[in-house]
Amino acid sequence: MIYDAIVIGGGPSGLMAANILEQNKINYLLLEKNDKVGKKLLLTGGKRCNITNALSKEDFIQSLTFKHKRFLYPAIKDFGSPEIIEFFKLNGLNLVLEENFKYFPETMKSSSVFEVLTKNLNMSRLKFHHSVKDIFKSEDGFILKTSNEDFLTKRVIVATGSNAYPSTGSSGDGLVFASKLGLEFKAFTPAETYLYASYVKEALSDLQGVSILHTTVKIRGTKISSHGGLLFTHFGLTGPAILQISEFVYDELLEGDVTLVFNITDHKDDEVIRQMNSIENQKVLILKVLESLTTKRLAKKVLDMANVSNKNMNEISKKDIAKILELLISFPVKIDAVETKEKAFVNAGGVLTKELDPNTMESRKIKGLYFIGETVDLHGPIGGYNVTIGLSTGRKCALSIVEEIKKEKNQ
Ligand SMILES: Cc1cc2nc3c(=O)[nH]c(=O)nc-3n(C[C@H](O)[C@H](O)[C@H](O)COP(=O)(O)OP(=O)(O)OC[C@H]3O[C@@H](n4cnc5c(N)ncnc54)[C@H](O)[C@@H]3O)c2cc1C
Repeated sequence: MIYDAIVIGGGPSGLMAANILEQNKINYLLLEKNDKVGKKLLLTGGKRCNITNALSKEDFIQSLTFKHKRFLYPAIKDFGSPEIIEFFKLNGLNLVLEENFKYFPETMKSSSVFEVLTKNLNMSRLKFHHSVKDIFKSEDGFILKTSNEDFLTKRVIVATGSNAYPSTGSSGDGLVFASKLGLEFKAFTPAETYLYASYVKEALSDLQGVSILHTTVKIRGTKISSHGGLLFTHFGLTGPAILQISEFVYDELLEGDVTLVFNITDHKDDEVIRQMNSIENQKVLILKVLESLTTKRLAKKVLDMANVSNKNMNEISKKDIAKILELLISFPVKIDAVETKEKAFVNAGGVLTKELDPNTMESRKIKGLYFIGETVDLHGPIGGYNVTIGLSTGRKCALSIVEEIKKEKNQ
């Protein structure tokens, strides 16, 4: 039997592709190495799954941090946030907005998302415990070798994810196939993850658990920055701003030392400068002033680091006030390492987008070969970007296959 299409991998991208193929009565299979599909999907968003976000399509694409972001335009244009919300609604699951930005299922359970993505599939088309080991190009399609059997197919959709959380099945196989078939790719590297800093562990151990609600984190000496919350931990730093900047820290660490600087006050830099300047001649204790700007522990730490005792502002030298100001708005932390790609939530890297047609996700070199989801060099920050990318590229790809098969039948 030669299948019209075989999907490798049952994450959000592969499941969405399978839904479209099923709906259009295509002769397809989905091969999944695990005993069930969607293992990572079930873990997403703290098991609540942040499916998408409230950004407009243009803003969604613009807020991505990689240069080739326009590649996603056709997929997101057809199946961005409004269509995803509608798709789940039509399948009986309303999505609700949180923090005015993130969409979650109203049940607050990722299993509800899983149910929607699997309920319309004919289970006989899903083959579990089928890990694809190799893909061979044949004259009229592909031979897929699994440990159990070989499969013949006219088209193959690689939806194997990245290297993040390999325990869920995402072990980077897509790039092994890409390499074997001669497609260019960028190796997977960690994104959306924690940063290790021995300086925090040792010199700042008393700050463990201290958080800054909103700050801008910059990589010193570069124009790279991120915005959001930050948390001091027992190993280094985490929080949304840190997760977002982690992939750039990874790249910068390959070149040399990396120091992050950030404002520790929850106030804008110019406000802090103005406030400090306005009271520099006053008889008010510096610790009280610092405690009005930041947490008690950070206030004390700043005084220690500046080597200034708790005196009135008017007794402190201009040089020491400048030192304190610098620590308030550019608190420095030297970073030693980024969490591994296996423990990162998402990976950067994947099959290069120049290898694929953005309207079909098909290889420009090998007809019938498709890559979708995180196995492609496409990823976003936290906030529903990655599930959205998986769903939209999966749909785009499968619809193009449906169209092609229809055309073939009409010929
Ligand atoms: C803890 C955690 C929380 C997250 N939370 C969110 C969130 O809330 N919102 C968000 O947008 N993103 C989130 N993400 C990211 C998101 O889960 C991924 O980007 C998304 O799952 C990628 O989908 P995918 O279909 O490309 O691949 P995956 O979900 O990785 O699925 C790949 C599938 O392919 C199978 N497979 C792999 N190799 C083979 C093979 N050789 N043969 C057969 N099958 C194979 C795997 O077993 C797996 O089922 C989170 C990630 C993690 C780890």
